[in-house]
Amino acid sequence: MEKPHIAVVPSPGFTHLVPILEFSKRLLHLHPEFHITCFIPSVGSPPSSSKAYLQTLPPTITSIFLPPITLDDVPDPSILALQIELSVNLSLPYIKQELESLCSRAKVVALVVDVFANGALDFAKELNLLSYIYLPQSAMLLSLYFYSTKLDEILSSAFRDLTKPIEIPGCVPIHNKDLPIHFQNLSSIGYKGFLERSKRFHVPDGVFMNTFLELEPGAIRALQELVKGKPKVYPVGPIIQMGSVGHENRVECLTWLDKQQEPNSVLYVSFGSGGTLSQEQLNELAFGLELSGQKFLWVVRAPSSVATVGYFCAETKDPLEFLPHGFLERTKEQGLVVPSWAPQIQVLSHGATGGFLSHCGWNSVLESVVQGVPVITWPLFAEQSLNAAMLTDDLKVALRPKVNESGLAEREEIAKVVRGLMEGNEGMEIRKRMGLLKIAAANAIKEDGSSTKTLSEVATSSRGF
Ligand code: UDP
Repeated sequence: MEKPHIAVVPSPGFTHLVPILEFSKRLLHLHPEFHITCFIPSVGSPPSSSKAYLQTLPPTITSIFLPPITLDDVPDPSILALQIELSVNLSLPYIKQELESLCSRAKVVALVVDVFANGALDFAKELNLLSYIYLPQSAMLLSLYFYSTKLDEILSSAFRDLTKPIEIPGCVPIHNKDLPIHFQNLSSIGYKGFLERSKRFHVPDGVFMNTFLELEPGAIRALQELVKGKPKVYPVGPIIQMGSVGHENRVECLTWLDKQQEPNSVLYVSFGSGGTLSQEQLNELAFGLELSGQKFLWVVRAPSSVATVGYFCAETKDPLEFLPHGFLERTKEQGLVVPSWAPQIQVLSHGATGGFLSHCGWNSVLESVVQGVPVITWPLFAEQSLNAAMLTDDLKVALRPKVNESGLAEREEIAKVVRGLMEGNEGMEIRKRMGLLKIAAANAIKEDGSSTKTLSEVATSSRGF
């Protein structure tokens, strides 16, 4: 008998392509009765990391590349979410065409779209398919989406007490500054875009989130109350990439880590698939790492005043040229610096790695949790400051360096926090707590784990696929 199909629409960019495909792989692993067809929107030619990843997909996932679009009229190129959303919206006619064609030749039962590909949800109604959003992020962020209309009233009030933390139901109270970056300017297009997107969460039958009950119990329960049954919300994580595909710095990083004698002695420093620092901040970080005296493995990217610049474009400059004069020579026994990319999953799972200075993209957060590696939070954009607040204030598995009035983390502060995490008493407590989360994460995806059960219930229930 012909297998039922699930159509999947990711968004362009490595960190919105990989998570939904990893989710697809997980679904197929638990429920091999399905076949998945994935329609991939792209801006220009896909980055080499995405291409290499796509070659590793199993034959039960068919990928169809949509014609690439060009992004000439982005309202504000610094807002990554809008760029990604626009690129999917420009691809909608192709998505519709491919989806209709698939429905005419196969039994398609459901459409699952990445959060930024929510424009495609309307086709599910037209074609009578069940529809789902895959949010590759936290329950806290989903709560913020559902709570945003109420929050907008609070934030817009002239009488608001700015010193009072914001209380998103079920979540740790957070300071205004830790809300996603666009919340700092309520008339910005980034903020308006967030509000618009939040309305789209009411369209699908369900929303999958890459989190698990034991990580965010309060937020998940509050969400289930908040949405009142439509859409259904499903924590199905942690879903992370298992083993990264052949990156150029792989051998060098892993060989260097193998040579480190002490377990948990290396701080891994990385800002995700495209995060960048200013030149001034890059210098302070370099001096701070050196001053800390701790071992480090640092993925360096060429500096820029726009933190998201590396996300879509391949690096054209040599990042190592931007390091302070003499830094590489002085630290050659202390650390390894690699340009642009490291095999993060393998680095985090290596016994020598004992800390992660991270921009707190949600994939990095989950990868750290899964490997039990404590964190130094360094949020740059999107909802990363929300994630950082969760790690430091709620879960207490991270330290956060203080910044000066210009937003710069200075070298002495960096050195202090690095030493605190890697060898201080507080660091030890943090490491223990992260160890417990690691166990909880592994349990959630065991055969009888909370996330496994949730995903299987959707797939087998009469209302599900
Ligand atoms: N990543 C990697 N090597 C790098 C940088 C990033 O393998 O040098 C992977 C990392 O393991 C994670 C993803 O890229 O899976 C980054 O996702 P995240 O959500 O943390 O951040 P974003 O790239 O969306 O800012």
